[in-house]
Amino acid sequence: MALVVQKYGGTSVGSVERIRNVARRVAKTYDDGNDVVVVVSAMSGETNKLVSLANEMCDFPSEREFDVLVATGEQVTISLLAMCLQSMGYQAKSYLGSQIPIITDSDFTRARIERIGDKKIREDLKNGTIIVVAGFQGVDRDGNVTTLGRGGSDTSAVAVAAALKADVCEIFTDVDGVYTTDPRIVPEAAKIEKISYDEMLEMASLGAKVLQTRSVEFAKKYGVDVHVRSSFNDNPGTLVTKEDEDMETVLVSGITYNKDESKISVLRVPDKPGIASALFSPLSAAGITVDMIIQNVSTDGSTDLTFTVPRGDFKKALKTVEETAREIGAAGVNSDEHIAKISIVGVGMRSHSGVASKMFQVLAAEGINIQMISTSEIKISCVIDAKYTELAVRVLHEAFELAKKDIKAE
Ligand code: ADP
Ligand code: ASP
Ligand code: MG
Repeated sequence: MALVVQKYGGTSVGSVERIRNVARRVAKTYDDGNDVVVVVSAMSGETNKLVSLANEMCDFPSEREFDVLVATGEQVTISLLAMCLQSMGYQAKSYLGSQIPIITDSDFTRARIERIGDKKIREDLKNGTIIVVAGFQGVDRDGNVTTLGRGGSDTSAVAVAAALKADVCEIFTDVDGVYTTDPRIVPEAAKIEKISYDEMLEMASLGAKVLQTRSVEFAKKYGVDVHVRSSFNDNPGTLVTKEDEDMETVLVSGITYNKDESKISVLRVPDKPGIASALFSPLSAAGITVDMIIQNVSTDGSTDLTFTVPRGDFKKALKTVEETAREIGAAGVNSDEHIAKISIVGVGMRSHSGVASKMFQVLAAEGINIQMISTSEIKISCVIDAKYTELAVRVLHEAFELAKKDIKAE
């Protein structure tokens, strides 16, 4: 008998019929003799609707109230799934994050899980109950509802699996694994059988939203093997696990894109100590994560500073930066919301050169201008005009020969 944690994403619970499908899968796992804890997302589209409501209500909704609102999507699906399982003759019980409890810090909209109480879950499991947990949400030490950032149900599932020392953590979604790139853009993308935590971490943080980045951090930290699978078939999926020797031989594992960032440039900033700190400290105080940064010193002794922030924080970041720019005597602020970050990821890059230059050549051949570049040991990212996103992903996927082998041979 194993303890299995299964997570079903928005599309998998997107309608009453699909919730029934999930219930049948959960019941089968239970009937096979396992203890089952299920984590579910809101029905697809519901969280977006709630976010729009908040933005319609006011320009800068309080983050505490925002979390109270957006956490409601998951309350609908846990109760529906539990009802369905009960109607099929199983004992099932739904839990909100606060009822488990899943304790987080108080960083609303992007809270981090600190502790998970396992007492109630263990008692219920002992008497044969299937547990249904609301993903994406937690509660802080003062009892406030918190959420874990978009896509956060993946993190809820991995964290629950780690806390319970589950034997298996399965993430069921609408694709049957992690692919060399988003299969919606490149249908020839190949499924990756096994991927290391580090590569998956880069792919997720660079835009492959099939797993939330924090879920992979959690999996790595606690050594949870994560199996990404489809809720619509029984195909073997992708195993996210510790790096092994085979993985090193793969030069490039995947191509990702991220359209969720925006670019801000501060122009003609005086070139003197303390300026970067004056600009970025208020952003960090406002909880805004800055991603890529470039700085160019011009001959007149001033510098242009360009950086990217998550699109969701764009309005807030721009307001903050405009205030600081005035204070430090910058010439002005430019911004661009229509950018995309295209990245190539692979642990094999540690020991091979030439990947970056090939990427630049491939983009140049299509007339795509590179606005910013950043690299790490196992990835290269370029910021480009968002309108070229699909084209860039397709040509890079082809240039690095990542397509399914059988299709390539045709
Ligand atoms: P869920 O609602 O189940 O959490 P998501 O929409 O968050 O599902 O994530 C699944 C989607 O991630 C897929 O439909 C796919 O379009 C997208 N995706 C992006 N990059 C990749 C990739 N490299 N491999 C697989 N899916 C990817
Ligand atoms: N419902 C939340 C979202 O749409 C969490 C999740 O689906 O993982 O972001
Ligand atoms: Mg998701």
